[in-house]
Amino acid sequence: QDKRRARLRDADTRTRDGVPVQLYANAEMSGDVAQARAYGAAGIGLYRTEFLFLQRKDAPGEEEQFLAYRDLVLGMGGLPVTIRTLDLGADKVDSAGLVLQDEPNPALGVRGVRLSLRTPQLMHTQLRAILRTTSYGPVRILVPMVSATEEMITVRRMVTECAMQLRSEGHPIADSFEIGAMIEVPAAAIALPSMIRKLDFVSIGTNDLVQYTLAVDRNNNELGALYDPLHPAVLRLLAHIIAVCKRARRPVTLCGEIAGDVHFTAMLIALGLTEFSMHPGLLLEVREAVNAIDAEAVRKVAPVLLRASGRESIRKVVERMRAQSR
Ligand code: PEP
Ligand code: MG
Repeated sequence: QDKRRARLRDADTRTRDGVPVQLYANAEMSGDVAQARAYGAAGIGLYRTEFLFLQRKDAPGEEEQFLAYRDLVLGMGGLPVTIRTLDLGADKVDSAGLVLQDEPNPALGVRGVRLSLRTPQLMHTQLRAILRTTSYGPVRILVPMVSATEEMITVRRMVTECAMQLRSEGHPIADSFEIGAMIEVPAAAIALPSMIRKLDFVSIGTNDLVQYTLAVDRNNNELGALYDPLHPAVLRLLAHIIAVCKRARRPVTLCGEIAGDVHFTAMLIALGLTEFSMHPGLLLEVREAVNAIDAEAVRKVAPVLLRASGRESIRKVVERMRAQSR
């Protein structure tokens, strides 16, 4: 067992037929970085900054955020790091002194980028802190809960303003920045062909994409069986998002829970995905799964998957893809 893990740490992340795959780590706390490094992550695919803001009275200031982000970037030793701007909403009230209105439907309310655009001071502070880390390593900025192109245009303008300010203050920052969106709202997924021009990269958030596509609260256990990442509507959206990104030559990562679940690895590679981001504890298992996959063979089965309609037949195709990978 130990030998197997040691071998997997050093193994190339390629499919059996040689397709290179990138496995990134999702990170929330500092321990995640050590684990990501130890298990050979290609970088941090999703850093959830909310955790800096939770369980405290005041929002962290620019310097505190900068130090936290810089530690992350330095900790990854030159590997790419994707930092997500604040994804808070009324479901996490009392965070960092933010006065969030009580909302009957927090998941459909002032959340993620919607909150950031209504509290520009908070967003400015965070963007400045993130931009200041760009002289320490490759850093990308990821925006959550995007549902309209205009939101990205506004965020880009804010980034440009913050960068100009920082340069005039003499901070050494990069010449240009990669700014991407979480695609986790069906509207953004469907409208992606028109939104993609405003995005340098895309990150698919299946945890929310499944919730919003199927109208199933991701935290409601009563509905557990209906929360199905293999629903044909979800599969079609995934195939569409990946295809649009490929056509527009934009990198696309999937960072929802299914990225770290080996039941889905062959299916996602069949849909054309080659970049995954997951809890660092899952990297070795997924690398082992990737190594066993015949990408060409499973991709041939993708059209069958997208034509299937019933839950049973979809599961059978996904199982067949897995079985081809042993
Ligand atoms: C997602 O929605 O899939 C995601 C990765 O973000 P979070 O789980 O933080 O909402
Ligand atoms: Mg999400």
